[in-house]
Amino acid sequence: MILIVGGAGYIGSHLVKELIKFEKVVVLDNFSTGFHTLVDSRTILVEGNLGDENVLKYIFTNYPIKAVMHFAANSLVGESVQNPYKYYENNVSATLTLLNTMLRYNVKNFIFSSTAATYGIPTVDLIDEEQPTNPINPYGRSKLMVENILEDFSKAYGLNYIVLRYFNAAGAHESAEIGESHDPETHLIPIILQHLLGQREKISVFGTDYDTPDGTCIRDYIHVTDLATAHIKALHALLDGQKQTAVYNLGNGKGYSVKEVIETCEKVTGKHANIEFAERRPGDPARLVASSNKIFEELGWKAERNLEQIIESAWRWHQRTVKVDA
Ligand code: UDP
Repeated sequence: MILIVGGAGYIGSHLVKELIKFEKVVVLDNFSTGFHTLVDSRTILVEGNLGDENVLKYIFTNYPIKAVMHFAANSLVGESVQNPYKYYENNVSATLTLLNTMLRYNVKNFIFSSTAATYGIPTVDLIDEEQPTNPINPYGRSKLMVENILEDFSKAYGLNYIVLRYFNAAGAHESAEIGESHDPETHLIPIILQHLLGQREKISVFGTDYDTPDGTCIRDYIHVTDLATAHIKALHALLDGQKQTAVYNLGNGKGYSVKEVIETCEKVTGKHANIEFAERRPGDPARLVASSNKIFEELGWKAERNLEQIIESAWRWHQRTVKVDA
């Protein structure tokens, strides 16, 4: 059985939907940002905190867990600057308890959700895993701290791990049963689609004077089901003993500006967006685009879905999950 910590969240729930085809799954979630509606009914659901030793002991005693996949983190850059304690507490301290308890029960395989934010402000157009990590906010630092802990735990205690550094996860499951849902919503694609559904008055474009061809930020958007597939390949690489430790980027290798994303949403939906140009959002690098060659070469994974397919899937889901902001 595989323990999915944070399986009621956006990315965790999409992973569960794919993984359940291969493995039995236990989900641990405290529903702080996840939703009951996202949890696949074929899982065993334990409600609790990943930093709660008693809950973890219960799980490791009662279920034959052979690996843990960890999706339960706070992930808003702005909030991490305002409230770093929350980020070090939830993302680092609670993860330390999880790792320590896993090892006590001899569970030694771990897949960790990390982020492009560990790179800080990159100096190259295409970021590979050899680029220096120099995060510029507490969110990115909290993720890098766990990466460092994993390296040390691997050497000292024989922990096997794979770190997956996501670029911009987006899109929804092909069934349109689950999709991207945050409260409050801060991510670009859901905000655009909510606007095009009449649930928001306008879209604010944060910064038009970046050093990019159209002045708006460039990001690498990756479909959440492609992310899920990468996790399953990584899990099998650990379980088969093909890998003991690894760090991989997960992206499409193509960058799109905020303006291009809005245009693609207009094209997919056939609707016109009302845009307002706004100040830069603090902490946003101009360009973040991944090279995912390493995981392709070592595990044979690459992203299958392009930006248009990402938006089409998200649009199908958004049309059936109406959410009107106050
Ligand atoms: N963005 C924007 N308006 C919004 C939300 C986001 O212009 O209402 C921009 C944001 O500044 C960034 C890009 O869209 O350049 C992607 O932001 P998102 O929050 O989706 O992901 P992030 O890159 O922060 O992980």
